[in-house]
Amino acid sequence: MAKKIVTDLDVTAKKVLVRADFNVPMKDGKITNDDRIVQALPTIKHLISEGAKVILFSHLGRVKEEADKEGKSLQPVANRLAELLGQEVTFVGETRGEKLENAIDALGNGDVLMFENTRFEDVDGKKESKNDPELGKYWASLGDLFVNDAFGTAHRAHASNVGIASNLESAAGFLMEKEIKFIGESVDNPVRPFVAILGGAKVSDKIGVIENLLEKADKVIIGGGMSYTFFKAQGKEIGTSLLEADKVELARDLLERANGKIILPVDATINKEFSNEGDINVVSVDQIPADQMGLDIGPESIKQFEQELAGAKTVVWNGPMGVFEMSNFAKGTIGVCEAIANLDDATTIIGGGDSAAAAMQLGFAEKFSHISTGGGASLEYLEGKELPGLAAISDK
Ligand code: AMP
Repeated sequence: MAKKIVTDLDVTAKKVLVRADFNVPMKDGKITNDDRIVQALPTIKHLISEGAKVILFSHLGRVKEEADKEGKSLQPVANRLAELLGQEVTFVGETRGEKLENAIDALGNGDVLMFENTRFEDVDGKKESKNDPELGKYWASLGDLFVNDAFGTAHRAHASNVGIASNLESAAGFLMEKEIKFIGESVDNPVRPFVAILGGAKVSDKIGVIENLLEKADKVIIGGGMSYTFFKAQGKEIGTSLLEADKVELARDLLERANGKIILPVDATINKEFSNEGDINVVSVDQIPADQMGLDIGPESIKQFEQELAGAKTVVWNGPMGVFEMSNFAKGTIGVCEAIANLDDATTIIGGGDSAAAAMQLGFAEKFSHISTGGGASLEYLEGKELPGLAAISDK
């Protein structure tokens, strides 16, 4: 069902509650990367220009007890946002109460206010994270409309996303809209051929994604640590490579069901230890010595994956091809990243997490159609699961 987007709402002179994702990395009270604040700007600026009273919510880190609040105030985020917007952002440091309510009442059209970290409400019984109905209702009572732009938390039913949305007319912000457009449409209605590339450490983390994409995609390329459980299922010697023994049976079943759709690497970059140093070699996946581990795909696999990608019109990538944190085992991930980035005329999507970080680090960010802002949320979306944060937004 199509969801309302922020441009479907008449926001002028209205108090618009906005759930953003300002969960930025911090060190010693300073923001180390303001990317998430920058990404939230289009929706906030749109609301300001339409003369809305903008009231922002976000979580920051995890808060279980009083002591966890230390260093998790959103004050630095409010300060940075004020700089980026070039206007004042009111911050009273509360998540409820008279002081906050008075500050909201004092807002003029186009003004911006930010709540304190929504998870400060978790200290007293996980009200935010357990979607306490009273909290959602109370927050909703402070506004006229709700805009959810926090895709990163859409896979969770919290008071600040699902709770508020259950009590107010709501819409997706521009960032959320982009995620729905790219991830949602690529999985549900892809332009073909549709190729998925999955990597990362464990099969167990990605079973749902593999199963869903096996149905939806034309090919599913599998690299990274999880490929070794598939090799084991094929009866190969995998040495001391990463293995999930309890998933070998599942891998065998997936290979059978895939009917040739699953493409595995043909060579591996191996080492005796889990280390960037040592006697590092490339071997065929049929010749991994018993005392060695595969830590990256090899050059032949990169070529093979390039060929499999040729002509693809939709590509979804999630997970590195090797231990890319170590320079000697980053080549596979870099090679695949380049191969996808260089595709002409394809919709190319990175589903969050390590692969997104790798593409940005390598300077390829601009070459992808979409890099998802949510790790867990994009995985669940790729699994074809309903995301509660998204489901709660009003239908068109
Ligand atoms: P994930 O969070 O599941 O996407 O997994 C990412 C992690 O998988 C990274 O930290 C990689 O170092 C790790 N990884 C990728 N390939 C391998 C491999 N062949 N052996 C061990 N770990 C790997």
